[in-house]
Amino acid sequence: MAAVERGTDEWQKLDVAHHLHPFTDPKYFDTKGPLVVTHADGVYITDSSGRKILDGMAGLWCVNVGYGRQELIDAAHAQMQKLAYYNVFFQSATPPQIELSRVLSEITPGDLNHFFFTNSGSEANDTIIRMVRHFWEVEGQPDKQIFIGRNLGYHGSTLAATSLGGMAAMHGMGKSLLPGFEHIMHPHWYAEGGDLSEAEFGLKAAQALEDKILELGPENVAAFVGEPIQGAGGVIDPPATYWPEIQRICRKYDVLLVADEVICGFGRLGHWFGCEAYGIQPDLMPMAKGLSSGYLPIAAVAYSGRVHKTLQEGGLFSHGYTYSGHPVSCAVALANIQLIKDENLIQTVHDDTAPYFRKTLTDAVADHPLVGEVRGAGLLAGIQLVKDKATKTLFEEDLAVAVKCRDHCLNNGLIMRAVGQSMVASPPLTITRAQIDELVEKAVKSLDQTA
Ligand code: PLP
Repeated sequence: MAAVERGTDEWQKLDVAHHLHPFTDPKYFDTKGPLVVTHADGVYITDSSGRKILDGMAGLWCVNVGYGRQELIDAAHAQMQKLAYYNVFFQSATPPQIELSRVLSEITPGDLNHFFFTNSGSEANDTIIRMVRHFWEVEGQPDKQIFIGRNLGYHGSTLAATSLGGMAAMHGMGKSLLPGFEHIMHPHWYAEGGDLSEAEFGLKAAQALEDKILELGPENVAAFVGEPIQGAGGVIDPPATYWPEIQRICRKYDVLLVADEVICGFGRLGHWFGCEAYGIQPDLMPMAKGLSSGYLPIAAVAYSGRVHKTLQEGGLFSHGYTYSGHPVSCAVALANIQLIKDENLIQTVHDDTAPYFRKTLTDAVADHPLVGEVRGAGLLAGIQLVKDKATKTLFEEDLAVAVKCRDHCLNNGLIMRAVGQSMVASPPLTITRAQIDELVEKAVKSLDQTA
């Protein structure tokens, strides 16, 4: 069947008439139509008017290997012909799901050699909440039920993942903060550091975890969950002292450590997983996005030998999704991981494109009056917008500045995202130096137009 072709106006009108966009104020469409994306190749997307746009966000931080990769398309096609679907419930398994578990066990750090498959990062985090609470029950510590997350943490938008995250606006919608979830400060030195050195601030931010555990009672705390770098919170990379101290505190009180690798995993920080960049070994790790480079929905929870042993003892774990371990998604994830290996993408990001990206971007905006700092690591960057550079004064509640900048970016042929008062970028890992130059040039032009 030929694809339906319509003009931009028609696509936009139909979309606005029948579709509610995630995380979008419908009032936006009173004056503008949605960006209708019809094609993509490499690091570029094409909209319904034929305009080519550099995708500085890799979709939603996920198209790590870039668009249009034949290897992934072929893998999906071949698997659909062989076995389009079978479930992995009860006593069933499929070769792609078995093979993906094996391949993942080779790249995940330490003894994170066991996997549970889901369809999304939100479901992976929901799974962790149920799995960890069950774990402690089996371990004979049924009161260890509370999860500690962080302000501005993002772990998804199901009810439980919303509660785990630290987005106050999301908690407020329909009273979406469940009991049993607590939040501590986020480690943003620029905004919260005051007179402290970066290293001192990292320890202070980690101390907030110990304080919270003692306040709640260690016998009641199940796990601490954090993204190695907070993505949707504005690309907040912690001081080097932070994560090792968090790990030490978790071990001291026997609180499980969960590194949410949904954004940081699969090469984004120049390592297979973000926790490796910070030298920590989590007990559980949700992963999604870069697992299949977004070509098909798939996510997973990796968990340690200790968690595995207890779950084995616990017997039946009544949990799972119809599409857990979907064979076509697993086949695409396998092809994606193979491509990352074949093209040496992680080493290239680590040694070449990430340092180039960071230096080029930082140098280009260093003196810009609107820019307070450039944050991040690897191919993940946040640009803090400020009202007054000298005094580090933010735009108070005025989120319009970043939105304005984002719209200028789009007009200039670049996708960047506005998060609060920051602009963020997370391009495909296949981006070249020349394309990084283009990204930075367009970002600077858009900042100039915003100032
Ligand atoms: N965890 C993190 C760190 C994320 O950034 C996201 C989504 O952006 C999620 C979880 C939720 O993943 P999903 O949107 O696939 O449910």
